[in-house]
Amino acid sequence: MNEIKIFCPATVANLSCGFDVLGLCLENIGDEMIIRKVKEKGLRITKITGADLPLETNKNVAGVAGMALLSHLDLEFGVEIEIHKKIKAGSGIGSSAASAAGVVVGINELLGIPMHRKELIPFAMEGEFLASGSYHADNVSPAILGGFTLVRSYNPLEVIKIKSPKHLYVTIIHPHIEVITSEARSILPKEIPLKTAITQWGNLGGFISGLYTEDYGLLGRCLQDVVAEPYRKNLIPEFDSIKKVALENGALGCGISGSGPSIYSLSKGLENSKKVENAIQNIFAKTTIPFDTYTSKVCDKGVRKI
Ligand code: ADP
Repeated sequence: MNEIKIFCPATVANLSCGFDVLGLCLENIGDEMIIRKVKEKGLRITKITGADLPLETNKNVAGVAGMALLSHLDLEFGVEIEIHKKIKAGSGIGSSAASAAGVVVGINELLGIPMHRKELIPFAMEGEFLASGSYHADNVSPAILGGFTLVRSYNPLEVIKIKSPKHLYVTIIHPHIEVITSEARSILPKEIPLKTAITQWGNLGGFISGLYTEDYGLLGRCLQDVVAEPYRKNLIPEFDSIKKVALENGALGCGISGSGPSIYSLSKGLENSKKVENAIQNIFAKTTIPFDTYTSKVCDKGVRKI
């Protein structure tokens, strides 16, 4: 095999009670990438469509992540990549992570899968470092592994994959405003009261249990974020009314995706998820801010061949 075309999924990180540790993989929202084996060593980005991003290897997340893996593998050949972006940068649904995850899985597939997917995560994190200045795995993990992922520890890195309950759907609204990630970080308190921490870890434990037992009621009760959401929601117009209408229309839970501005809701079944999407559209259409909405199943496969 000399060439591979892949789908690089969007992801939701910072899932409410799983702030900074829990993420999920979306099924039908994502970029495409073509990765080609070439004689000349190294990595070149030959084409980018759908976004104005640098072609220079060391300025593009895909270039940095891909080079990190190529240097580790010390191959006799190189790769060329094409990136076809569909996920808007800065939307809060893992635009940079899709590229970082896509390139490492793509190269691994081209080589006949010498590495386990979990082993690819640190290389993708090198790409995320370029985008955000920090080594984080909360979007690249679900993009690479699919389903839900829990980053249990960074040192050493330990990521746990949990299969999604069958009927779990996600509704996303992406208001076209900019939330600066560093600002979303800086408004969070450095310390939290013990009572708040107890609420958060109770909910996270309950949520993980609900995933394994497919207990949708429990999942809904646990989808609360008492740590980051009370502060970050102020950066997103209409957050409270969107959350209210999502819950009134049957969503199991609703919260900020990544560091925003996208907002996600989880629902049981496609029909409920679509109902939530409609209700949110009606609310947000009353503002002057342009927006997109999406509905997607949680996907148990991460980056995949197409
Ligand atoms: P999101 O909020 O959707 O997770 P990010 O904040 O992770 O998006 O990534 C966006 C940043 O990464 C932008 O500054 C963008 O210019 C930079 N970037 C570099 N290469 C890429 C790439 N291949 N895909 C997306 N963003 C990239």
